[in-house]
Formats: sequence, C-alpha cells, structure tokens
Amino acid sequence: MAKASKSALVIGGGIAGIQASLDLADMGIHVDMIEKKPCIGGRMAQLDKTFPTNDCSICILAPKLSECYRHPNIKIHSFSEVQKVEGTAGNFTVDVLRHARYVKEDECINCGICAEKCPMRVDDEFDRQLRKRKAIYMYYLQGVPAIMTIDKEKCLYLTKEACRICEKNCERDAIDFEQKDEVVTINDVGSIIVAAGYNLIEDVENEVLKNYGYKKYRNVVTALEFERMECASGPQEGHLKRFSDGETPKKIAFLQCIGSRNIRSKKYCSSICCMYTTKEAMIAYEHNNELESYVFYIDMRAGGKGFQNFLKRGAEEYNIKYVKSKAAQVQIDNEENPIIVYEDLDTAEIKQLKVDLVVLATCIIPPEGIENLAGTLGVELDEYKFIKTKPFYPVETSKDGIFTCGCVHEPMDIPRSVSEASGAAARAAEVIKGGL
Ligand SMILES: Cc1cc2nc3c(=O)[nH]c(=O)nc-3n(C[C@H](O)[C@H](O)[C@H](O)COP(=O)(O)OP(=O)(O)OC[C@H]3O[C@@H](n4cnc5c(N)ncnc54)[C@H](O)[C@@H]3O)c2cc1C
Repeated sequence: MAKASKSALVIGGGIAGIQASLDLADMGIHVDMIEKKPCIGGRMAQLDKTFPTNDCSICILAPKLSECYRHPNIKIHSFSEVQKVEGTAGNFTVDVLRHARYVKEDECINCGICAEKCPMRVDDEFDRQLRKRKAIYMYYLQGVPAIMTIDKEKCLYLTKEACRICEKNCERDAIDFEQKDEVVTINDVGSIIVAAGYNLIEDVENEVLKNYGYKKYRNVVTALEFERMECASGPQEGHLKRFSDGETPKKIAFLQCIGSRNIRSKKYCSSICCMYTTKEAMIAYEHNNELESYVFYIDMRAGGKGFQNFLKRGAEEYNIKYVKSKAAQVQIDNEENPIIVYEDLDTAEIKQLKVDLVVLATCIIPPEGIENLAGTLGVELDEYKFIKTKPFYPVETSKDGIFTCGCVHEPMDIPRSVSEASGAAARAAEVIKGGL
C-alpha cells in the first residue's frame, strides 16, 4: 500500500489508542503514539479477566502490545506527553515532551538485576499501592516497551546524590543519570486521535467514599484493587485474602454506584460497573466455590449483547445474590468484618449484612490533566470534563481533524472502545488521505 505523506498522532496507549494506531498503521499511515506512562496498555493491563467472555485480560492485550511495538508504521513515545499543538486539520505540528527515564532505551534488556539490587522500596502505582516496587522498575510485568524506568522522586541518587547501585550492577551500561527531559517536534501530522482514557474517583477525592470506610477499614477495597487481588500477577498472586488477617473471604458485598448517579458527586452512570462487578464475583467464586456474593444495586444496567444472560448466569451458577438497594454505610465489628447498612427496596426495611470483604464499584472520571490536554489541543470538554463529542458523530471533537475514542469522552467497556477506535481511525484516515 502506498505510504501516506501525512502521519497521525494518537494520544494514549490504552486499548482504544492501540486499536486506532493499528488500524491506521495497517492503512499505510505512520502513527506517533504518545503514552504518558512508562509502558502502553492502559487500564486493560490492570484487569484480571474481562467480561463478557471472562478471558484473561493480558492474554488478549499482549499480542496487540507487541504488534504495536513491532509495526513498522508505529512509533511509540512512552513516558511522554503532548506539550504544544499548532496548525489545522491536515497539517498539525506537535511538540512532545519526552520525560527522562534515566535508562538507555536501546541498551536495557529488562533483565531486572538493577531492580533486585535497588535499596528503595516504594508503593507500586500499577498495583494500586497494594505492594511495593523498587525505585528502578518495570511499570508492569508484560509491559511494552520492556524497558526499566527510574522514579526520579524516589531514587536515592537523584534525590540525595548517593547510591548509584543500579548503575554499578548494570552489565549493559544502560543507566544514564545525565538524561534530561527533551522536546521532540513532530511535523506533518494530518490528524490527531485523543484516547487518553479515564481515572477513578478514588484517585482524586475520598469524600464520597468515606461513608463506605474506604482507606479506614482494611477489608474495604475498590473494584480495581480487587482486579489486582484476583490476578495471578497481582499482589496476592491470585489467592484472594483479606488485608486484616490473610483469611480467604467467604462472603463478599459488592456495592454499586459509588460516586456515580449521585447528586453529591457525579450525576452520570459509570456504565460498566454492573457488568464488571458480576464478572469479579464470578471469578472470585472460581477461586472459592463456597463463596457467597451480594451485589447491592439501584438498578442493573447491562444493555449489551448477551449481558442480561451474563447476570442470570451469575445468579444461577455463581451464587451471586442481587440486592435491590443503595447501601447507606459500612461499619465494622471487633474482628474488622464489614457490616453493610442498607434499605431493602423490595421490602422498605432497614437491614444489616455482615460480610468478610466489601468491594466498591467507584465512578469513572476523566483522566488526570484533561483540562490541560484539551486546552493544548483546542477541543471542548462537556459538563463533566470528558471530551465533548457531536451527538450523531460520536468520534468527532469540536475541532476539525481531531477525533476521539474510548473512555476519555465517556465511560465505556472494551468492546465499545475498540469499535470506536476503528471509527476514529477511519475518520482520521479520511483527513490524512485528503477526503476531509
Ligand atoms: C474495575 C474495572 C473493571 C473493568 N472490567 C472490564 C471488563 O471486564 N470488560 C470490559 O470490557 N471493560 C472493563 N473495564 C473498562 C475498561 O477498563 C475500559 O473500557 C478500557 O480500559 C478503556 O480503554 P481506553 O483506552 O479508553 O482507556 P485506558 O485504558 O484508561 O487507557 C488510556 C491510556 O492513555 C494514557 N494517558 C492518559 N492521559 C494521557 C496524556 N495526557 N497523554 C498521553 N497518554 C495519556 C493512560 O496512561 C493510558 O495508558 C473495567 C474498568 C474497571 C474500572
């Protein structure tokens, strides 16, 4: 296929950005993919299994990560952010800030010896602070590019000018403390796709989570933390345990709409929680088939193909009990067992339920830094600060030549993120190939 003279720029290396990049690259269009974390993969890399099939998330994602990495038409700029955008549809110029990782990308082979020797143990962001990593680290086990990164806020040498143990132990001489942040200018960008994904409410505020004892009680976790707890590569190596006493939970309460559909917090529906909660309860049951799960819900929103049947299977085959109620509060007893206080909406009675563990389905919110990014791109945001799209053109932003896909414009699941990504890629290709 003839190579297009203009390229595309994709912001965000989650599943949406990955799919959009692969589609464009397969059309013969060069793609610069900008990912702010040290590796691409986004949230899907943090999930254990994925509904609706409950397949292993990383097993589906990993082939796409390496396809992106190896594709001759894709250049991944990881640990990078868009700093400036000039021009108009068909001809943008973009400045990209590449953060120093203090590791030579061409030399590091991810052998891990540096991390083994590093004396600094710090909270692991990828594992939601549920375990420690070193100050020199691989963002996650199967991450792409497979290159170590030095956390400059935590590194002893970069903060106190002592140590350099990683450098002394690197046989490939891949550590480079002289590296500086640099700005790279990308010219001839025909079109831009924004796929910067989402954040979760617990990442920015805790007010609405206080009622539920989050961060106060050890046996109250969020759904993304629970994904990491269930995952074989996660902090519990796939053996579900309570943080208070290491016991296997036998009764779990899953509380829906935490922060979402709430006039004191976010009014919108987070859209995916009814489905992923049932998935998490199913997987937990597969870990321990004596488990009882209780899902506290306002109403079940499972509108996708086969989704209703998924919930039915949850109730019939996985011992999940759906309780129509908005849980009001979580308390604990002397053994740190959470007690859910709720109104049973079927009987209008105030009830209590003692469980071993509580999992909160917290609201999806726009990604960190969205206002800056939108300002740099010149695109409008909606009332909740998601990227604004046109009602009948769901991948079009307010600016010509800039498209969007995935959760950065509204909460959605992986299948929809992928199909939107292909839509955004098709529209971007039209602009690049002259059909604006
Ligand atoms: C607990 C939980 C369980 C879930 N389970 C399922 C499931 O089973 N099945 C399912 O279909 N869906 C599930 N989802 C939803 C799924 O995570 C999303 O649909 C999917 O991750 C959306 O992909 P994305 O690419 O839009 O966003 P993300 O996965 O968030 O990726 C966005 C990427 O952009 C990067 N980025 C952000 N800002 C910038 C910037 N300024 N510059 C450059 N890069 C940036 C981020 O670092 C990230 O890598 C679940 C979600 C949660 C919270």
